[in-house]
Amino acid sequence: MYAYGPVPSRRFGRSVGISPIPEKTCSYSCVYCQLGRTRNLTIKREHFFPVDDILADIEKVVSANEHKIDYLTLVGDGEPTLSADLGEIIHACKTRFPYKVGVITNGSLLWMQEVRQELSEADVVNISMSTSDPETFQGLHRPHVGLSFERVRDGIQQFATTFKGQIWAEVMLVDFVNTDSGEMEALRTLIDNVRPSRTYIMTPTRPPAEKWVLIPSPEKIIMALSLFGGEDITQLEHGTFGLDEFKSANEAISEICRRHPLRLSQARTIEAYFAQRSLDRLITEGKFKIVEYQNHKYVLPTEFIFGTRAVAQN
Ligand code: SF4
Repeated sequence: MYAYGPVPSRRFGRSVGISPIPEKTCSYSCVYCQLGRTRNLTIKREHFFPVDDILADIEKVVSANEHKIDYLTLVGDGEPTLSADLGEIIHACKTRFPYKVGVITNGSLLWMQEVRQELSEADVVNISMSTSDPETFQGLHRPHVGLSFERVRDGIQQFATTFKGQIWAEVMLVDFVNTDSGEMEALRTLIDNVRPSRTYIMTPTRPPAEKWVLIPSPEKIIMALSLFGGEDITQLEHGTFGLDEFKSANEAISEICRRHPLRLSQARTIEAYFAQRSLDRLITEGKFKIVEYQNHKYVLPTEFIFGTRAVAQN
């Protein structure tokens, strides 16, 4: 399944997620990633899946949820700009459907001319901008060996000079990694140079790839909000998931969990929608586990939990 939702998104409202890449394929392996450690760490762009299949999936989700959608969002179970079909998918979305198209990217491939070109038809490109120096960049994102801080920073700035849509900057704060006041001041300068329409301040609200990742104190979050003039999306999202295209609670929970970690209460709501109890069996079979994080219980695929899979570099 390449398209799913709509899911409630703190930035994109009712968002149909589109994933044009295989699970956990990314150019980074961020310490805060809610999908666990990256399995396929790569900067090689590929035609991963048939575009017609992706578009057919989008069509199916859209027709089941007309009038309930704010954005079609390319997000991926990793980094969506790794798809060499990105431009074709965005163009098809813009011409076939009456919705805005957003892309959530870590920005690491914007130094590639073809990536900047392929993103040009999107309405919004949401870019991670969380570090202002090479050491913190390495520590927070654990990037592919082909990426340096300078290369990524310059690519983002180059993209910002030509892109006609809106750029939204996303700052992920991890305590003691990028919350030093000097670091934040330097980051503000970088973000100012990109002139984003919005800046979002985020914290790891869902279980992170590494156990030691900490949410900053309210004082540090407030400092960041005043420094960046950003919007606070450090709280959990609310809203319902589009379930019409799923045939069973089992399928819905399994698919949604892999893209959007579910709170236990949300998984139980899905079971109630289908009048089926399937979660307990999925847990007994070892496919999912319940993880407690920040006073909430989450249902996570077993392989997501604190990086039980190795990182391979391509
Ligand atoms: S947080 Fe995003 S950029 Fe970082 S590893 Fe996860 S998917 Fe990749």
